[in-house]
Formats: sequence, structure tokens, C-alpha cells
Amino acid sequence: MNTKNKIILIVISMISIMFIFITADMIYNFRKYGIQSIDDKAQAVAKTIEHSLTSQMVSGVIDDRELFLSQLKDIPNIDRIWLSRGQKVIAMYGEGFNNEIPKDDIDIEVLKTGKEKKVVKDNLFSESTYRITIPYNATSTGKIDCISCHTNAKENDTLGAISIEMSIDESKQFGIKTVIDTMLIALALMAAITLLLNFIISPFLSLFDSIKKVMNKAQKGDYSYRIKNSKGREAKDVSLWVNGLLEKLETTLEDIDSKISIFLSENQKVTDKDHLINVKHTVDRLSEVYKFRKTIEYDETIEDVYKRLAQVIKTKLKIEDFNFFEANTVTNEISTVYVNNQIRCNILETGCRADRTNTIIDSTQFKNVCPSCESCEDMNYFCIPYSISNELDLIISIYTKNHSQMLKVREMIPYIQDYVDATKTVLISKKLMLILEINAQTDPLTGLKNRKYLDDVIPKIESQSKRTNISYGILLLDIDYFKMVNDTYGHDIGDNAIKIVAQTLNESIRESDIDIRYGGEEFMLLLYNCDEKYIQKIAEKIRVDFSKKEIPTGGKTTIFKTMSIGVSMYPSDAQSITDCIKYADLALYKAKNSGRNQVVRFENSLLKNQDHT
Ligand code: GH3
Ligand code: MG
Ligand code: MG
Repeated sequence: MNTKNKIILIVISMISIMFIFITADMIYNFRKYGIQSIDDKAQAVAKTIEHSLTSQMVSGVIDDRELFLSQLKDIPNIDRIWLSRGQKVIAMYGEGFNNEIPKDDIDIEVLKTGKEKKVVKDNLFSESTYRITIPYNATSTGKIDCISCHTNAKENDTLGAISIEMSIDESKQFGIKTVIDTMLIALALMAAITLLLNFIISPFLSLFDSIKKVMNKAQKGDYSYRIKNSKGREAKDVSLWVNGLLEKLETTLEDIDSKISIFLSENQKVTDKDHLINVKHTVDRLSEVYKFRKTIEYDETIEDVYKRLAQVIKTKLKIEDFNFFEANTVTNEISTVYVNNQIRCNILETGCRADRTNTIIDSTQFKNVCPSCESCEDMNYFCIPYSISNELDLIISIYTKNHSQMLKVREMIPYIQDYVDATKTVLISKKLMLILEINAQTDPLTGLKNRKYLDDVIPKIESQSKRTNISYGILLLDIDYFKMVNDTYGHDIGDNAIKIVAQTLNESIRESDIDIRYGGEEFMLLLYNCDEKYIQKIAEKIRVDFSKKEIPTGGKTTIFKTMSIGVSMYPSDAQSITDCIKYADLALYKAKNSGRNQVVRFENSLLKNQDHT
């Protein structure tokens, strides 16, 4: 039912209820008033008859009362009047000429009890009557002493009674007329209100109904409904404003929704038909991802970034068992970058199917789909490859134990995608920074570390050595008479000789040792965890190995070169690596001065010689 009909119904119901109450009250009051006035009249007539009959009795003309009584019947509304004699009066004076004995039970009752009785007979469609029977009780105390004539009666004995029957139709008809008039007024009022609602309020009510309908749709996310056919200037204005607002909302939200949803992964786009809900959802997701991205930008290392990504997957996406791997697309090398629980497949040995096929590997789609994951029998796995750059893929392997976990992971895959997307640029920039840093610390000719690297690494080595008591051997190596190579064969041949030194060093040292191009044709080795015996041995080996290396001269001939090596030990020779390097340099100086092509271990006496020079 529309609002207009509802209001009309309410108003008419209220008027009807009001009318019923007013009518009921009027009927009650009319009846009460009618009976009261008839009663007063009857009482007056009864009193008049009593006095009159008493007077007639006293003056001895009681036999003429018939005329008097018949005249009383002419009083309006009085239908019947009759007298009833009590037993004692009948005993003394007989029944009277008009047979004044009790006419009915009411007469008998009143004569017996001496109490007045009223009977009202209401009939809506036939005559309504009021009957009253009033007793005449004997008294000796009034103006006339009843007992003086009625000698057989005692005080308060009922001597007789008068019954009067009157019509109350007049007041009933008056009441009915009033009720009909009120009903007509109420009907007229209802008609007037209905007209008023129809012609004056109707446009507003139908506008209200339209707004309600349109807003109901908008509230459910459908902003395409508009208010139509408004009547009246004000209603038209309002509908224009509402329609304009809805139009703006619809187009703007749709626009924002489609524009910002591109920032999320494909599967997460437009899920709700309410653009506002979509926008809120997208903004929530974007702000989460944005916060994550901002945080990882300030993380120091790539390991920290992966840890942060893992933390998000664990805490926000509630995935428990997963690992990250990096795959180099050029060298096909795979390395582990984050292990949350344990590595469950042979990815490092056999390679990665997800990376090779560039698709999500889902073991629920095909059991044992990946040959690298033989030991994953009781678990399902999802391996998702993400392309980070031209050279780098990230593989996330997720393991689930049951069906519900698996469904949850499937649901979370687009969310992981968003976080990985946010990680991409940060990873690339951090990798580039790392490359730049490595380049800045690497000698381009030999690929060895350079002096900058040495400066950066010295504090680290010193603090590590202090912590662990691990000693370092320091070797300074310089090619003997190298200038001559340049002068004789040219700079390029000299460069080749330098490369051969680097190659010789690489062949002789361990993974934990550091080889540095210290200057032009001067090199340094930092040998991790070594003793006097080892350092002498390795220095000697390098010297001999290099002296045997053929250095091509560009023509058919090759040459051989030698090198001199100065040796010191950290921290046994000095408390700082810088001092130890100086000492190794003193030893190298001695090796040069002592004929070259030899290894000289630093000793304190070299410091004295230095003082002398
Ligand atoms: P000594 O036995 O005393 O060391 O004699 P030397 O000739 O080797 O003397 P020194 O060590 O001072 O020689 C340095 C020479 O190394 C000078 C320079 O021409 C050459 N040199 C330095 N850097 C490079 C380089 O990058 N390439 C080439 N080809 N030569 C270099
Ligand atoms: Mg030299
Ligand atoms: Mg030199």
C-alpha cells in the first residue's frame, strides 16, 4: 500500500474511532438525560396525585378522583396512570369503584416493600417506555396524619401506590437525529480530508514514495533508478536534486571503481554490484598493500623484504606452511630465499615445474603433478610463479593438509598476488642497489673486490674477529718489474698479466677468503681463519704458481713473470687491520729489496729498519 493510502486509512480510522466514542457518549448522555427528565416529571406527577388524593380524601370528594386522574393523562408523554390500594386500605375502604387492586407484579412488589420501582423498556424500532411505581406510605408526622383516617395502618405501612407509564420516544428520536447528524458531519470531514490529501498532499506523498523506492534500490547498491512523473513545482525541484545526486553518485562511483580496481589483481575486481562497496573494499585492500609497500621500502635488505612478505602471508592471509624461492631465468639457478617451515621438495636439485611452465601448480587438480615433490604425498601443494624482472622469478610454494585449508589458500591467491606486485619494484630496486654496490666494490678488469670493498669490510672483519677470536692472514702481492711488460708489449698485454694474477689467486684461495685488487698490479688476500704455517704455505704456492703461468704477448711468444709477497697476521701483529696492511707492505718492500720473487713474513725488526730509512 502506498503512503498516501496509508495516511488516508489512518486518518479515516482515527475519525471513525473518534466518531464511535462521541456517538456512544452522546447516546449514553441522551438516554440518561431523557430518563432523568421523565423521572423528575413522574415524581412531580406522583407527588401532585398524592397531595390531590389526600386533599380529596380529607374534603370527602375522593370519589371524583377519576376525572382528576384522566385529566392527568393529557400531560405530554404520560400514557397511563393507575392506582393500586394496599391490603389495609382495601380492608377498610374496599377496592374502590375503579377496581384499584395491584395490576401486575411491580405493583405487588412496591406495595409489599414500600420502595419505589422503575422499569425502562428500550426499543430502537418500536416504542420505548418508562414505568415508575411510587408507594404512598402512611405517616402521622406530616401536615396530614394518615393514621387518623387509616386507623388499621401503622406508621410507614404502604397504603397504596401510583404507577405512571410514560413514553421516552421523544428523547430517543432526538438522540437518533443527533447521532445521524454527527455521522453526516464525520462523513463530510472524512471526505474533506481525503480530498485534501489527494489534491494538496498527494504530490508530496507520491514523491516520498518514489524517493523511498529509489533510495531502497540505492541502499542495495543499484544507483540507476530515478524519480519519475513528479507533480507540483516543489516536488519537481526535489526530484531533480535527488536524481542529480544519484546520477553523480552512479557515474562517479562507477568511474572510481573501474579506475582503482586496476590496482588489484584480476580475481579481486568488482565482486559486488554496489560500486560503493567495491570502492570501499578496493580502497581497504589498496591501503593495506600500500602500507606494506611503504614498510618494505625502508627495509634494509632483500632478506628483510622477504621476511615481511612472509609475515603478511602468515598473519594477514593466515597461511602457515610455505617457502619462497628465487629462480634466475638466465642461468636457471634456483635459490631458497625464505623457509617458513621446511623445504618439502627437491626444487634446488631438479628445478621447478611452476617456474618452467609459468603456471600455478596445484596438486589438487592432478595428484603428484610435480615430480620434484615426491615426499609431499600426504599434503596438497600450490606452487605459484611470479615474474619479478626479466631475469628473476619468485616462486611461492604453499602446502596444505586438508580440504578447507586448500580452499582458503585458493581464495587467498589473488591477495598474495597483490602483495607480490607491491614487492616487485622494491625487490628490483634493492637488487639493483645491490648490483650497484657490488659494482662499486668490484674491479672491472679482474672481477676481484677493490679498495672500496676493503674499506667497507675492514670494520666488519675486525668486529667479527673480536667476537669469535678468528685470525686473518694478510698478503700483499706485487708483480716484479711489471712496468717493463707495459713498456715492451703494451698496456693490453699488461692487463692480461694482471688478469692472470687474479686467476692464480682465485685458484688458490677458499670460499671464505677475500681477494682484492689493491692497486695497479698490486693485490691483497685476506685469508680467513689461518695460522702461520698455512699463510706461508699459501703465499709460497701462489708465488710459485704465478711464476709458472705463461703470459701471452700477442705474438707467438709468451713470457713468465714473478711476484713478491709481504705477509702479516691479524690480530697477532697489530690491533687493527689497517696497521697489519702497513706491516704486510713493509714485508713486501723488504721482499722487493731482497731480490724480488719471494715471500717475506713481517717481523718487528722491519719497523726499526723503517725508522732508520
Ligand atoms: P717493482 O718490481 O718494483 O714492482 O717494479 P714495477 O715495474 O712493477 O714497478 P711498479 O710496481 O711501481 O709498477 C707499476 C706499473 O704498473 C706502473 C703502471 O704503468 C702499471 N700499471 C698500473 N696499473 C695498470 C693497469 O691497470 N694496467 C696495466 N697494463 N698497467 C698498469
Ligand atoms: Mg710491481
Ligand atoms: Mg706496484
